[in-house]
Amino acid sequence: MDLALNPKDEAFRQEVRTFLEDNLTDELRHAARINAGVFSDAPVNLEWQRILHKKGWVAPSWPEEFGGTGWSEMQRFIYSSELIRAQAPTLSAMGLRMVGPVIMRYGTPEQKEFYLPRILSGEDYWCQGYSEPGAGSDLASLQCRAEPDGDDYVVNGTKIWTTHAQFANRIFCLVRTDTSGKPQQGITFLLIDMDTPGITIEPIITMAGDHEVNQVFFDDVRVPQKNRVGEENDGWTVAKYLLEFERGGSYSAGLEVSLDKVKETASMERQDGQSLKADPDFLRKLAELEIQITSLKYTEHRVMSELSQGQNPGPASSMLKANGSETSQMVLELGMEAIGFYAAPDQKAARHPNANVELIGPDYALTPMPRYLNFRASSIYGGSNEIQRNIMAKLVLGL
Ligand SMILES: Cc1cc2nc3c(=O)[nH]c(=O)nc-3n(C[C@H](O)[C@H](O)[C@H](O)COP(=O)(O)OP(=O)(O)OC[C@H]3O[C@@H](n4cnc5c(N)ncnc54)[C@H](O)[C@@H]3O)c2cc1C
Repeated sequence: MDLALNPKDEAFRQEVRTFLEDNLTDELRHAARINAGVFSDAPVNLEWQRILHKKGWVAPSWPEEFGGTGWSEMQRFIYSSELIRAQAPTLSAMGLRMVGPVIMRYGTPEQKEFYLPRILSGEDYWCQGYSEPGAGSDLASLQCRAEPDGDDYVVNGTKIWTTHAQFANRIFCLVRTDTSGKPQQGITFLLIDMDTPGITIEPIITMAGDHEVNQVFFDDVRVPQKNRVGEENDGWTVAKYLLEFERGGSYSAGLEVSLDKVKETASMERQDGQSLKADPDFLRKLAELEIQITSLKYTEHRVMSELSQGQNPGPASSMLKANGSETSQMVLELGMEAIGFYAAPDQKAARHPNANVELIGPDYALTPMPRYLNFRASSIYGGSNEIQRNIMAKLVLGL
């Protein structure tokens, strides 16, 4: 496989780099660097989204008619890799990459006209109400009820692990509208305003000490029936379409950046009087990860080539998700090993963009531990890796 860029793509990469040099401020880079979570906090990622929106580059994967860029698969890959290399804040996926494509495919003309521009501009900030206590991997067993009542549904129940619900003004939810048939048959997809009376949000603090996820409670929440996407009881079709977008994505560019950071750290850390980078055991682990990341990169390019020929990624998205998340965890673990004792202090206060707290240890030791802890979840969210392996066993191995 030849990974060299053709002159047109090389020129495009330069254009992206110039844009980033001119627009990605030091403050935004700093805020992204100290962030330990999957997405930057809303104030940071929305500031960056407004800049991208002004340029027309906020949703490269959307069709042009809805505000996409019309770029090729390769240009999109270059663009996202350059954002990662420049350490730009990570935009929240729930509007742009999840409910946006769903509304484009299944929404009414009114829903498209109302919601899509607001997702692009960041005026609407979405969260995802799929999981419930007792309904994660087995999502179809969800219990949150919606009873029709006049022009509304009345929603009662709870959603859990709801990322960024504390920032969101809207939530897309799977609710149960029928209990008579197979569990998949009685589910409906609803768009709900978070300021509707009867909704309460309880924070869940992660083991890294961060507030990223929540439990959301619905107590007689009235939702207009015009906020339903797709037909009543046909939400499972809509839900599955959304998951195709949730599980996609590329890992290799981010992993290369993370591994470079580990190398930088290792060149500064000393063990028994010599640089950690000269330690054969450490070097072996670095080399193993480098090989793994290269193989992941080739798989991503293969999938990209299939996509550009109009094919569906199929089980490859499960393979990338499982492999990408586990490699991320290994790189983060090696980063902690490189830092040694300085990974241990809990310095949450210093991880605020405007913090003026004195650091314990070198600045490169601030985020590896919270990132390591947060990314333990990457093999769980978006469908756990055991579930991804079940998909591969069925679709690839035919078991
Ligand atoms: C940080 C974080 C953020 C999240 N954000 C959101 C969000 O914004 N919105 C949302 O709706 N959800 C969110 N989730 C929920 C996530 O999708 C679920 O945690 C996930 O689907 C697993 O479900 P569960 O936690 O109920 O675990 P369970 O389904 O109870 O699984 C427990 C264990 O059993 C294994 N297991 C279960 N079934 C099988 C099987 N058939 N074969 C083999 N092994 C199996 C699982 O792999 C896992 O190891 C988030 C989760 C995390 C951790």
